[in-house]
Amino acid sequence: MDGLLHANQVSRASLGGIGLAFAGLVDPSEQRILSTNKKYDDALGADLPGWVRQHWDVPFYMDNDARMAAVGEWKYGAGRDTDDLVVMTIGTGIGTSAIIGGRLLRGRHFQAGVLGGHISVQYEGRDCTCGNKGCLEAYGSTWSLAGRLEGIDDFEALFAAAEKRQGRRVAGEAGLL
Ligand SMILES: [Zn+2]
Repeated sequence: MDGLLHANQVSRASLGGIGLAFAGLVDPSEQRILSTNKKYDDALGADLPGWVRQHWDVPFYMDNDARMAAVGEWKYGAGRDTDDLVVMTIGTGIGTSAIIGGRLLRGRHFQAGVLGGHISVQYEGRDCTCGNKGCLEAYGSTWSLAGRLEGIDDFEALFAAAEKRQGRRVAGEAGLL
């Protein structure tokens, strides 16, 4: 964390708070990680508020990463002009979240709206980390890329390969190859 502050030229004295957007189920009222879906299991039971208090002593907030992305888009991004929006994040996993009528959807167990990546798109398809089969996340997340396409293990590599292939196709159609 101190490295992050240093890299962004933020002094400890000017640090106003710390927010953590976590890729998993989070109880923001208790500041607790509820489920990691086998991605960051060492975070379960971690006393993150205590860690922040001990090292930086600033306000701390944590929530699901897709939910925090939705709030960011709502307040400062593509959703500024509406009180109704949904967000999908594609990365390590596939996250979803929704703001409806100006209220961030959470639900009693903090699962409402955030499990869109675990909608089954291939009945009896690939195994997912959640225990289901054929989830969207099992086909379109970073973890699902590993071992499926040679030399591609993240989206940067995937997009570069797609651009290269597209360039070849366009060049071929133009008779340049
Ligand atoms: Zn799943």
